[in-house]
Amino acid sequence: MTYPYLTIDLDKIEHNSRTVVDLCRQHGIEVTGVTKVTCGHPDVAMAMLRGGVSAIGDSRLENIHRLQDAGVKTRYMLLRLPPLSGVEEVVASVAVSLNSELSVLEGLSQAAMKRNVVHEVIIMVDLGDLREGLWPDDLVPFMREALKLGGVRVLGLGANVACFGGVVPDEDNMGLLAELTRKIENTFALKLDCVSGLNSSGLALITAGGVPERVNHARIGEAIILGRETVHRNPWPGTDQDAFTLYAEVLEMKAKPSRPVGTRSVDAFGHVPEFDQRGVRDRALLNVGHEDVDMKGVAPLDSRIEVVGASSGYLVVDVTDVPGGVHVGDQLAFNLNYSALLRAMTSGYIKKRVFRGGTCVDDDRC
Ligand SMILES: *Cc1c(COP(=O)(O)O)cnc(C)c1O
Repeated sequence: MTYPYLTIDLDKIEHNSRTVVDLCRQHGIEVTGVTKVTCGHPDVAMAMLRGGVSAIGDSRLENIHRLQDAGVKTRYMLLRLPPLSGVEEVVASVAVSLNSELSVLEGLSQAAMKRNVVHEVIIMVDLGDLREGLWPDDLVPFMREALKLGGVRVLGLGANVACFGGVVPDEDNMGLLAELTRKIENTFALKLDCVSGLNSSGLALITAGGVPERVNHARIGEAIILGRETVHRNPWPGTDQDAFTLYAEVLEMKAKPSRPVGTRSVDAFGHVPEFDQRGVRDRALLNVGHEDVDMKGVAPLDSRIEVVGASSGYLVVDVTDVPGGVHVGDQLAFNLNYSALLRAMTSGYIKKRVFRGGTCVDDDRC
């Protein structure tokens, strides 16, 4: 029996990494590759490292442990703010973490001193996107306290945009980050090594030369994984968008009317679905559903196939326009957006087949 599965093309991930790393290097920016959308898949991390990223970042310690257990040797950065309850584990697991709370820094400091190590921290500043980070006015007093702590070394400043509030990176907010860096350096007579202002939303700004010289680090996931910048989600030149492909099997193939028959209420998820009047259509039912993938982010590779809808365990597609038809037992292929890929990678029901140099190097379908 075949399960629905994702293929992962490591050559494409390596190629995308190289494209992004080369671009960033030309502008004096170092790249940490972000694996979180793949749940810290070790083969994906290795491909990123072959493509030239200098470190691996992930938002979850579980993912970082998965990478470490698989023997991926690199410098690790924890991207999600460390929990106060987890400072010991953070210090034991990663070289660098992103931080915004003094109490957590104090915890990391204690934990690091106990282990006799120095834990590096990047202090996050909120440039307006309203996710993590200190409001710029609060940075100097925060730093004054942070710099007193033993066991932690302030590596620099960081900021995250285009994630929560949809704020686009531009010359103004990156300029502010550079200015805050100079202010901290002047106030405390020190040098900050790392100014980490960018993610996949920053590629166009980098290319346009709009990133101040002081900003020298980017944490890049989606542009490497899916080959897209994230302001307009346009394909990034020189990258592949199809490193990941989802395959699902046709379980039922019938001609049915395009609109439901009978008195209608809500679907299984409480929504009232809309259906166009298109007469009788050829419809295939596939063995993936909302439980496995975000169906809004699924696109058939064959453009003649149309997604009609889904329930938790079925995907329904219209295949009327496929010449020669589609048959029970056929496997149909789909491209995924970030949110669909995230859920598919997280789902235990979706198996993963990893390819390198055209051959399958890892297959967990059995
Ligand atoms: C997820 C994440 C990134 C990577 O973002 P992409 O848009 O995938 O490049 C960078 N930094 C932080 C803090 C993140 O959480």
